Amino acid sequence: MKISTFLSCSALFLASLAVAAPDDPNKIDTCTKPGVVAWTIDDGPGMYNDQLLAIMAKKNVTATFFVLGTMIDQNAAQAGALKKILAGGHQLASHTYSHGNLDNMTVDQMKKEVSTTSDTMFKHSGVRPRYMRAPEGRCGVECTKVMTDLGLVISHWNVDTNDWRFMNEKEPLKATEKSMVEVNDLIINNSDPAKDSFILLQHEIHKFSVEHLADRVIDSILKKGYRFVSMEECVGEKAYLEGSVLPSTAGTSTTASATTATMTTTATATATTATTASKEQNNAGAMAQVAAWTMGLTAALGCALI
Ligand SMILES: [Zn+2]
Repeated sequence: MKISTFLSCSALFLASLAVAAPDDPNKIDTCTKPGVVAWTIDDGPGMYNDQLLAIMAKKNVTATFFVLGTMIDQNAAQAGALKKILAGGHQLASHTYSHGNLDNMTVDQMKKEVSTTSDTMFKHSGVRPRYMRAPEGRCGVECTKVMTDLGLVISHWNVDTNDWRFMNEKEPLKATEKSMVEVNDLIINNSDPAKDSFILLQHEIHKFSVEHLADRVIDSILKKGYRFVSMEECVGEKAYLEGSVLPSTAGTSTTASATTATMTTTATATATTATTASKEQNNAGAMAQVAAWTMGLTAALGCALI
């Protein structure tokens, strides 16, 4: 049992290490104007979502939540979180359905990952996201073509809190210091709000990241002179696809865009080869990991990631 737990956690760790910098203009990793930081929150909506929204409201800052279809579908409260996120004036975006590696999928599987997530998000919030982030940043040539053909904006990042690396650190303040290293290096100590902009990556499924890191991120970036913006304001393209209807309680000034881009909602994975079956098993594994994150089970099991 201990060995299987270790292997499972190690696989998660190794998979998460392989994050490549974008080498394609279709993958956005900076804003189109200086002086702004698009704070992006991945892998939710999770169990600390309410806490994080309260912190953001108190500090009067905005963010973009890249949510997972599995996280929405697995828990009614998390589904309800989408409307709370919009009501807080934040933007919703897609992080795919299963958090699987898109580069290992067929075109149909890739389409299904985003269309199923779009359908789930529409059902629970009324919006279909234009902005998507590939799990672990993995979106090669074929994936990039699929996403751009669907009218989606592939959203990378240029600063990483690396908070997931420190989720098992016993002292939350120590984990926070470690997660601030790249933020301090790239934003606080070596940037100029008159010239620079950032897309910052953080996760909402790690307790310390919400309870301690979020405040540090907000305070230090505001003090440096940057303004927090949504991905829509960062990039300049509308947040949501045609047919989106923002709830009347949404605090955002963003309105659903009327463009020609539409999401295919009927994409189906038709390949039935052994390879596909194998990939689906991988996806099932990824979904199981997501479920574990949801419940904080990785921490409860005492996963040693190093
Ligand atoms: Zn993720």
